[in-house]
Amino acid sequence: MIHLTDMEIQEYVLDKATCSPDIVAHMKTCDTCREVAGAYEVLFVGMKAQEAAVFDFDVSALVLRELHRKERKPIPVFAMLISILCAGGCYFFRNDIYGLFTGIPPLLLYFIIVSTAAVALFLLADMYKGYQQKMTILNRF
Ligand SMILES: [Zn+2]
Repeated sequence: MIHLTDMEIQEYVLDKATCSPDIVAHMKTCDTCREVAGAYEVLFVGMKAQEAAVFDFDVSALVLRELHRKERKPIPVFAMLISILCAGGCYFFRNDIYGLFTGIPPLLLYFIIVSTAAVALFLLADMYKGYQQKMTILNRF
């Protein structure tokens, strides 16, 4: 006989009304799973009966102070330096950069733009698919 998983038994103990009929039917017939469910009920009742923790200092002030401490970000000096160098380089080579695109035939330029857009779309779709798979895995737990 295949027994229920711990998650299914916990789901049954916490909310029998929304449980699937298969789980309810199994719980009615299986002594082993009922025994595990009984242990979970004792555990959950004990968790609810525990008093909330009381501290002799202000926890919210401490947490807020830590949150504000993490909000401060260092000044991105390296990124600013690179940006200034790129801007200076672009200004220095402005005539060459302009000639870079005017020397290309328009048809070739369109081909480059279309193929670049196709590759970018493919990479974006792949990244989105990976994101959805990771979120599915995360939502399981
Ligand atoms: Zn069982």
